[in-house]
Amino acid sequence: MRREDAVTERAENLQLAVCSEGRDDKLHEECGVFGIVSRGGDVALTTYWGLYALQHRGQESTGIVVTDGRTMHVKKGMGLVAEVYKDGVDELKGFAAIGHVRYSTQGASMPYNIQPLRVFFDGGNLALSHNGNLTNAGALRANLAKEGAVFTTTVDTEVLLNLIAYSAHAAIEDRVAEAVSQIKGGFSMLFLTDNKLIAVRDPYGFRPLALGRLDDGWCVASESCAFDLVGAEMVRDVLPGEMIVLDLDTEVPLSIMWAKKKPAHKAHCVFEYVYFARNDSIIDGQSVYASRIQMGRELAKETAHIKPDIVISVPDSGTAAAIGYSQAAGVPFMEGLTKNRYIGRTFIQPTQRQRDNAVRLKLNPVRSVVAGKRVVMVDDSIVRGTTSGKIVKLLKEAGAKEVHVCISSPPVTDSCYYGIDTSERKELIAAHYNVDEICRFIGADSLHYISLDGMKRAVSAVWPQDLCCACFNSHYPDEADKVIDDEPAGIEE
Ligand code: SF4
Repeated sequence: MRREDAVTERAENLQLAVCSEGRDDKLHEECGVFGIVSRGGDVALTTYWGLYALQHRGQESTGIVVTDGRTMHVKKGMGLVAEVYKDGVDELKGFAAIGHVRYSTQGASMPYNIQPLRVFFDGGNLALSHNGNLTNAGALRANLAKEGAVFTTTVDTEVLLNLIAYSAHAAIEDRVAEAVSQIKGGFSMLFLTDNKLIAVRDPYGFRPLALGRLDDGWCVASESCAFDLVGAEMVRDVLPGEMIVLDLDTEVPLSIMWAKKKPAHKAHCVFEYVYFARNDSIIDGQSVYASRIQMGRELAKETAHIKPDIVISVPDSGTAAAIGYSQAAGVPFMEGLTKNRYIGRTFIQPTQRQRDNAVRLKLNPVRSVVAGKRVVMVDDSIVRGTTSGKIVKLLKEAGAKEVHVCISSPPVTDSCYYGIDTSERKELIAAHYNVDEICRFIGADSLHYISLDGMKRAVSAVWPQDLCCACFNSHYPDEADKVIDDEPAGIEE
């Protein structure tokens, strides 16, 4: 078989496998967290709004835990924030709360795995919300099980609760510090005790976490966009390796640098800027929107040889970069694809003929915009290559003369171990095929990925060496690939 045919066959098999699982061609965040301490009395409602703003970080399940100082009140469910709390959160009374939205890759999407996790230990009530992924959780879990620990979930996060419960320290801050010192991977976590909220970020700062100020208290969130919705002012990012402790008496948040060993460099996830985070968030000092505009500008510089008539985006995630491209290239940005914004999570299974057209359920070309034009189409990423080809085909059927695909991230060649679902490496199209082969497969006139340096330059507020780019270059800052190799086999669910 010729290599080109092999490419096509393998990529088509990949598509079929992925489509039959009903997955789209995007990377997915694993979670978002929100926490609050306030004298205002409506902490559950504020947490609800905070989670609403963070819904893009996880849509499978959500939970809120509130403390009144003696009792913790819990509400959890499978589904979106709007669905799970549709009857309100009035029954959750207290002065501090943590919440969570979840997208699962580690631990099944089942009710018993919904966060925040909540336990009772010798120090009282304890709840935990986690965004990230622990790379050595399997080994820790096996050791804890040998000592007699029992588990009620299959999520990696639960080992933390056991480590805290087994700690010999008295103060909760020391217990948390001892526990998080034993774990590896990417984590931004919120712990809620009977009277304190403790926020912790891993020493590399893989996942974002920010501190906000309310009139009558404090809040913490995965992204600053949540502060805007709840009327809080962004104070600063929680620092890598930092613990922040908040309670009702907090005038100045207590900051503890718990990580004894500081890594040589931070490793903020560059994909937050490419795709995951909301445009209106500021993460580690960098406006997400500004970085996306700049990625588009860099792409335009790198593809100056293309002389398009128009620039279009794959909405919505490619739009900011497409605008940047248009500005830098001096070519008009137009809406060449219309997105159906009302697709539910389930729909009646299409027939085979309809299935071939299923991409139109989400996106449809605007014929009057693209017909007869040389089009640059900007998207944020190609992960498995399952939809780009279909979109190119639609544009050509709508009369586009040429379609040049420009991607605002480099080829995704490696898995993420820090809280992003990148699929297994074998599913990543760029792990197996070069750019020319992928271009042929998607049927574009040309395909260009932004360079690694161009992408880093676009995140100008963060030092390039402080960005994690492991899924593009396999440089895992903490050698997570080796840690994962040593992990015991996962739990059967
Ligand atoms: S490996 Fe990729 S997705 Fe994961 S933290 Fe690093 S940049 Fe982000």
